[in-house]
Amino acid sequence: MARKKTVNGFCRICGKEGPLTFEHVPPQSAYNKERAVEFRLEDKLYKTAVKGRTRQGGIGAHTLCEQCNNDTGSWYGAEYVQWAKFGFDIIHTWQKKGKTEGIVTLKSVYPLRFLKQVVTCFFSVVGEPGGTLFASKNPGLVQFVLDRYEQELPDYRFFLDFYPLASGQNTSLRRYPLAAKLTVLTDGKGNIRPLETHVLSEYTHPPLALSMTKDKTLFGATDITDFKNFTYDTCCDIELPLRIVKSTSPYPAT
Ligand SMILES: [Zn+2]
Repeated sequence: MARKKTVNGFCRICGKEGPLTFEHVPPQSAYNKERAVEFRLEDKLYKTAVKGRTRQGGIGAHTLCEQCNNDTGSWYGAEYVQWAKFGFDIIHTWQKKGKTEGIVTLKSVYPLRFLKQVVTCFFSVVGEPGGTLFASKNPGLVQFVLDRYEQELPDYRFFLDFYPLASGQNTSLRRYPLAAKLTVLTDGKGNIRPLETHVLSEYTHPPLALSMTKDKTLFGATDITDFKNFTYDTCCDIELPLRIVKSTSPYPAT
């Protein structure tokens, strides 16, 4: 949905310069309408009392031109909203049973449309303000979202987890253009050895947590990259192993 303030700049997908529209990440109907308070990670790390910036009406930014916003929204937005609804339903059912992972069957979904909305969201999360560097370095990703029938998805892999609302406390809605996680082993004598490294981009917004990486696996999250093999018009039932990750931490991949 467009907001009244006019912001000019470069569209983070097509790169055209002009008026930018407000792109909600995730789409506004996917439970992204509420007030949120935004903090920079640096504020959380180094300052004890920071007020943060209040965002009304959902999280997002002026990142896309009207055409990219409208096209991607009309092609993929409704499907993402559907997955978010499924996500909350499954999380509620699992929480009643004390379950945190399982195989789910999603009925009558368009997997490619969901994946394309995820990639669209990452353009807004990853692209640098005012610039088009990410889009210009990744023309294949641009093509993937601007042509709804395109099934080539180069370089990156995309991962999904369920991410519930935190009960009784504020839920952390994280957005990281770029983050790295280093897992180490300690031997009890003060020696530390690196075990695993991952570089990723992330956005988490209940009920879904999405990551984009060039790595082949990501901490046990479900790889949804192969949704590219479905066509734009393929509607089917799909079985997926999924798990709930719970966190109130501001840190990525936690
Ligand atoms: Zn555009």
